[in-house]
Amino acid sequence: MTNRISHWIDGKNWAGVAERTGEVFDPATGEVRALVDFAGDGQIAEAVDAAAAAFPGWRDTSLAARTKIMFTFRELLVARKDELAAIVTSEHGKVLSDAAGEVQRAIENVEYACGAPQLLKGGYSENASRGVDVYSLAQPLGVVGVISPFNFPAMVPLWFVPNAIACGNTVVLKPSEKDPSAANFIAELFAEAGLPSGVLNVLHGDKVAVDGLLTHPVVKAISFVGSTPIARYVYETGTAAGKRVQALGGAKNHMVVLPDADLDLAADAAVSAGFGSAGERCMAVSVVVAVDPVGDELVSKITERMAKLRVGDGRDPDSEMGPLVTAAHRERVASYLDAGVEAGARLVVDGRDTGVDGGEGGFWFGPTLFDHVEPGMSIYTDEIFGPVLCVARAHSYDAALELVNANPYGNGTAIFTNDGGASRRYQNEVEVGMVGVNVPIPVPVAYYSFGGWKNSLFGDSHAYGPEGFHFFTRTKVVTSRWLDPSHGGVNLGFPRNV
Ligand code: NAD
Repeated sequence: MTNRISHWIDGKNWAGVAERTGEVFDPATGEVRALVDFAGDGQIAEAVDAAAAAFPGWRDTSLAARTKIMFTFRELLVARKDELAAIVTSEHGKVLSDAAGEVQRAIENVEYACGAPQLLKGGYSENASRGVDVYSLAQPLGVVGVISPFNFPAMVPLWFVPNAIACGNTVVLKPSEKDPSAANFIAELFAEAGLPSGVLNVLHGDKVAVDGLLTHPVVKAISFVGSTPIARYVYETGTAAGKRVQALGGAKNHMVVLPDADLDLAADAAVSAGFGSAGERCMAVSVVVAVDPVGDELVSKITERMAKLRVGDGRDPDSEMGPLVTAAHRERVASYLDAGVEAGARLVVDGRDTGVDGGEGGFWFGPTLFDHVEPGMSIYTDEIFGPVLCVARAHSYDAALELVNANPYGNGTAIFTNDGGASRRYQNEVEVGMVGVNVPIPVPVAYYSFGGWKNSLFGDSHAYGPEGFHFFTRTKVVTSRWLDPSHGGVNLGFPRNV
């Protein structure tokens, strides 16, 4: 019998009958492993109502008690991290070691949220005026929505949920319908850690659920991660409805290789960052910009390494790269190969015919390399989100920088060089939110914040870290005076500090 995955509302699994469901695949076999319920208006209302009812009690729960739950959740997550990684692999397809890395980064965000008492401290100015004290409070917003993509089903929810609830908010999480089980695992673990019912709810579904959260008057803020067109839509719809919104979008990340770089290191990095998780990472390197004269040598070193990559079932410890998430996504990625050839790029390695013994129905796509890619080709302009690496040639550092800065995305970038001056110049001049120096995937640690520029992020706040705490609180400033007879009397002038 096919498993069923349903909403988690007010501390329990929703027991109703869904009008619509979605299929969840095992990408390594192509089999349907579960059906996930899709929310309609009734379940959206139930989830938001549960979060709204839980808010007053949770907001007033002491920082000590909130933090204790977060520490307990962290312990449970560490104890069961392999289980969560296995869930991620079974629905997303990425190899187990990569899923374990994802869970580890998620744990680091939980650890950051454990610092809430320190992070929520306000300011206090005694005697701002005679006998008058002024202080600031960081208060929670209320019910917040978190909407996550398929490619990090454990980490992206945990970029937001721990910080949101540590700040005193209650949450409705809408994970991707393609790999929904990790969200339920997280919610059940929070319940086991002692989180009161209704503080974290999971609503499954598609656009209907997203639109329901975006327009619900009780929802105060939305944290979204996904593709750029949907991020833009979420930002515009949510802000028009009066909500605070941070919407992280897609990417086309460039790795610039200067002539003085260690080319072996650069080739290793390009292969790891281009093909890890089958390229289904918003921080994947999708374009290598080889600055003359290193292009031919770099392409040959990348090609040698690609030949050794082992594609297979993510559960097999020998596999280095798993399948793509769905058959439809596989077809979309494949469609770019003909387009690239027609546009004049050189297809150096073609991953279309990759198969895996015993995984005949799997959504396989082998590592693919294009050389002599030019702006204007669809393989350059579009986010392919698969294991397709493009090499573009640049005559100089300036030409490479111009190429990167002309791109409408600005999520991540890397420069490979042994020249400290060049790397300093790049970090200063490049219009991208996250920069790696000889580091191909510069995902910030949990105590910095994650976010791109330009079409990779709509809104003012980056995700997690200090900006996450800022996003999930609003500031109130109190000006207080305790009775002092010397301040008596009516004064119609504008308050002055005296
Ligand atoms: P997606 O945009 O298709 O879906 C993201 C979420 O939006 C899902 O929960 C989905 O159910 C919902 N959604 C889909 N279509 C919708 C619609 N028409 N209206 C309202 N909601 C809709 O993204 P995806 O394919 O799940 O994830 C991959 C994308 O996410 C890539 O573009 C990747 O770059 C991006 N991503 C970005 C970051 C980042 O930090 N910038 C991180 C991870 C992934």
